[in-house]
Amino acid sequence: MALREVLQFPDERLRRVSKPLEHVDDRIRELVRDMCDVMYDEPGIGLAAPQLGEAIRLVVVDTEWMEEDAERNPLVLVNPEIVEAEGKLVFTEGCLSVPDFQAEVERAEHVLLRATDLEGETLEIRCEGLQAVCFQHEIDHLDGKLFIDRISRLKRSRYVLKRKKQLAAEREEAG
Ligand code: ZN
Repeated sequence: MALREVLQFPDERLRRVSKPLEHVDDRIRELVRDMCDVMYDEPGIGLAAPQLGEAIRLVVVDTEWMEEDAERNPLVLVNPEIVEAEGKLVFTEGCLSVPDFQAEVERAEHVLLRATDLEGETLEIRCEGLQAVCFQHEIDHLDGKLFIDRISRLKRSRYVLKRKKQLAAEREEAG
C-alpha cells in the first residue's frame, strides 16, 4: 500500500486553520490509519491531519514507540486543545513538514490536554516534557503554525534561504 505524501514547507496548505471534526465516519477512520502508517514509516512521534492536506482538527501521537522494547500505541486526538499550561521548557524540535532542519523552541513544560477519541469519549491528559512539547507542536499545525514560526527571525530566514536553494536544486535535477 502506498503511503500518503507529507506536505512540506513552504506548501500553503500547511498554513490553513483546520476545522473542528464533528463526526467520525469510515473516511476519518481510514485517514487515521493513513496518518499512523506515515508517522511510523517516516519515522516520527506525531502527525497532524493538515500535514496530509486534510484541514481537520485531528492528530496522532506516539512519543514512546521508538524506545527499546516499546510497542506501537498511537494516541488519536480529535479536536485537541491545551486547557492549562505552566512553566517553560526549551526543546530541540524537528518536523516532517520542515525537511532537514531542527531548532530549539520554547514551550510550556506542563500541560493539560483535552480532546475526544474516535468513539467520542473525552480524554484529559496531564503531561510534561516530550509529550507536552509534542501536543503543543501538533496543535500548532491545526492552527496553521510551524515550529519555525517560534524561532528567531534570523534563524528562520536562514532556513527559508536553505530550503529555497534545496528546492531549486531539486527542480534542476528533475530537469
Ligand atoms: Zn510538525
